[in-house]
Amino acid sequence: MSNQRHTERPMAFATRAIHAGQPADPTTGATIFPIYQTSTYTQAGLGENKGFEYSRSGNPTRAALETCLASLEGAQFGLAFASGLAAETCILSVLRPGDHIVAGDDLYGGTYRLFERVVRPMGVEITYVPARDTAAYQQALTSQTKYIWAETPTNPLLTLVDIAAVAEAAHAGGAQLVVDNTFATPYFQRPLELGADVVIHSTTKYINGHSDVVGGALMTSNAELFEAYTFYQNAAGGVPGAFDAWLVLRGVKTLAVRMRQHAENAMAVAQFLSEHPKVRAVYYPGLANHPDHALATRQMHGYGGMVSFDMKGGLPAVKRAVKRLRVFALAESLGGIESLCCHPASMTHASIPQEVREARGVTDSLLRLSVGIEDARDLIADLKDALD
Ligand SMILES: *Cc1c(COP(=O)(O)O)cnc(C)c1O
Repeated sequence: MSNQRHTERPMAFATRAIHAGQPADPTTGATIFPIYQTSTYTQAGLGENKGFEYSRSGNPTRAALETCLASLEGAQFGLAFASGLAAETCILSVLRPGDHIVAGDDLYGGTYRLFERVVRPMGVEITYVPARDTAAYQQALTSQTKYIWAETPTNPLLTLVDIAAVAEAAHAGGAQLVVDNTFATPYFQRPLELGADVVIHSTTKYINGHSDVVGGALMTSNAELFEAYTFYQNAAGGVPGAFDAWLVLRGVKTLAVRMRQHAENAMAVAQFLSEHPKVRAVYYPGLANHPDHALATRQMHGYGGMVSFDMKGGLPAVKRAVKRLRVFALAESLGGIESLCCHPASMTHASIPQEVREARGVTDSLLRLSVGIEDARDLIADLKDALD
């Protein structure tokens, strides 16, 4: 960051979201960090460069994003990728045949597919445990376990993992804890401060926040892991282009204000749904009757913008309701300023076998809302009209 002040207090989150890694351009004074749309860099002589040689290995716009995201997670290092799954693949790249992962059982569908169809066939074992059962993670550890992989709150049931307790269990067993922080964002939850070793984000979601980029990132303060991940990022090459990196930099500037509004609207929607006669169950960690409400209050700084609910009347009722929505768009993805409604069983979680899905509570009558930052009155009126 430019302008280091002579004060003890580090700059606060909302300020770092706007400034970290993005000093004014020294040659032109440009206030907003430029898009370095270049693949290569002219060298002054053999071995003489300004820190950049080829944009797969490093690009200034991507580097600014990596610095900014690392700052927000309280990490020493950050790496940006072409998608969240590319960031996950990088984290998994250090595993070898015979290694073992313990994972929470309520994972993003694409992560589950990556584990089962790509990682397992390469000889890595994966054990799934109930996401909120801290003791189960501990019991599943073996001498071969390299990572515990946790997503919290989970998708789509918004179950919480006790990050501090699971980190302790991981370290006691010689493993490291990876937390997918996509749903909470560093504004509401900073896993590294709670003992996690690596954080992964789909920046496609809240970090960018405008539903116009696919991207991913990982953050860590572990220098050894960072070196291995940096090697893989360059060796495998799943990097974002300069323009996408710039869009995410632009989006993340407003993360603090967006997250506050997402959470306020989500709470209003969750309360409305809780009182609706056609709704069987509402999943939102901000509700006092959510089983992980106390943990959420302790571990998070807010409850986020995702709300799931189970409708009475099964699939036919769900089909009728989603047809009537006007403000909520029926769409995959989440975390943008606009409200989305998703049917996990047929959309995001369709790649999970039905028996596995149902056993985990992802029923045919479950709907997941990504509550946007429109006026909450319009969101509630839309849901009321669809459900009544
Ligand atoms: C979307 C998502 C991912 C995957 O990210 P992509 O950017 O789509 O590759 C991983 N984890 C969670 C929780 C997600 O929501």
